[in-house]
Amino acid sequence: MDDRERALDAAHRRATEFLGTLDDRPVWPRASLDDMMSVFGGPLPDEGADPAEVIHGIASQADPGLVAIPGGRFFGFVIGATHPAALAADWLVSAWDQNSGSSVLTPATVALERVAGQWMLDLLGLPPTASVGFVTGGQIANFTCLGAARTAVLARAGWDLAERGMRDAPRVRVVVGADRHASVDRAARFLGFGRAELVIIDSDDQGRMRPDALAAALADGTGPLIVCLQAGEVHTGAFDDFRTLVPLAHEHDAWVHVDGAFGLWAAASGSLSRLTAGMEAADSWATDAHKTLNVPYDCGMAIVRDPADSIAAFRTGGDYLVYSGLDPWDVTPELSRRARGVPAWAALRSLGRSGVESLIDRLHANAVAMASGLSTIAGIEVLNDVDYTQVMFRAATDEATRALGAEILEEGTAVVTGAEWRGRAALRCSMSSWATTPGDIERTIAAIRGLVAA
Ligand SMILES: *Cc1c(COP(=O)(O)O)cnc(C)c1O
Repeated sequence: MDDRERALDAAHRRATEFLGTLDDRPVWPRASLDDMMSVFGGPLPDEGADPAEVIHGIASQADPGLVAIPGGRFFGFVIGATHPAALAADWLVSAWDQNSGSSVLTPATVALERVAGQWMLDLLGLPPTASVGFVTGGQIANFTCLGAARTAVLARAGWDLAERGMRDAPRVRVVVGADRHASVDRAARFLGFGRAELVIIDSDDQGRMRPDALAAALADGTGPLIVCLQAGEVHTGAFDDFRTLVPLAHEHDAWVHVDGAFGLWAAASGSLSRLTAGMEAADSWATDAHKTLNVPYDCGMAIVRDPADSIAAFRTGGDYLVYSGLDPWDVTPELSRRARGVPAWAALRSLGRSGVESLIDRLHANAVAMASGLSTIAGIEVLNDVDYTQVMFRAATDEATRALGAEILEEGTAVVTGAEWRGRAALRCSMSSWATTPGDIERTIAAIRGLVAA
């Protein structure tokens, strides 16, 4: 074997070994950042090393610092695992090394991404002619969609943003819910909208935007307007009432954006699609493939109803770039990039329509089972309506809740992460892994029961 084959062979062996440990290893890492820095740090050696040995070295030394995200009992934040076909496709993407911004340069990967985008629009009930930009994740998807929104609402007000910039532009009102994801504020900040400029709308006990509060805010102002709604609140999993809110915002000529990093996928399930009803009338949608669809990092999608709005915001004027209709680099902020949509094609093809639907239904069923198991533990209170994939709970006091969170990580069976909800400490499980089985839920509940009893 040549160097390349030996290095790939080493990666394959060590990756398979790691995946084989997932059921038994502690889910939370056993080494700290300092430990890992001391293993990998120090000055760059003068002499090079054999490529396969480099791979073996990384795999051996990183192991205690790895978190078992691809397994069935990582419930922290909102983080998916990796479906087998998506993982293997990701390896191919690296081996192929296709710079996938242009359809002229890399037709195979651009076609795979384009089809993955069309399949997703179909599964999610979104307009088939919308543009789908493959970006690194929900954060940049929010940024990309709001970038298209900003250009479009200013154009409607007679302002050419690409030509004249932001300094003297008409004021744009950006309206958000009180329980929006932090990435919306960050996207707004990147686009020149400060936190104090955001119009914040009250939410209900589950984190849904209150329609009466939105109506009052919209009545109180004029000019270019962007309204950001949410499919899937990170703590409760709650969905804004799109059927009421989208038409209301449109009456005021708003651009309506939906942050649906994990929640948009409810639309692919016959039994859960009532949660997203009405969101298809919005103007842009941000979602992730690396959460609910279970493809490897990084893969998010910025979806814009009218591709002309994406192009107006993102197409480059560089003469050296060849145009052929709608290229990937016309609809995202990137030029050179990996073909991150190919693993999404592989996951979708491997699951099929019914497989995607049953994946979403299974994640929801896991959440229901987790909530009902947790509520049988004395002293544990489940805090949210478990309509989708999120379960939030707490112990009797904030102190006990935080201590329990730390003990769960230490004990190692599962990972749940801490949160604050309505001023009190909480713990949160997100059911986002295709690999989670009913047995994983039982093991997790048994471990938490044991910790509470002790
Ligand atoms: C995760 C998440 C994001 C950010 O997505 P990344 O993929 O982490 O960039 C945005 N919004 C919501 C609702 C999320 O859950």
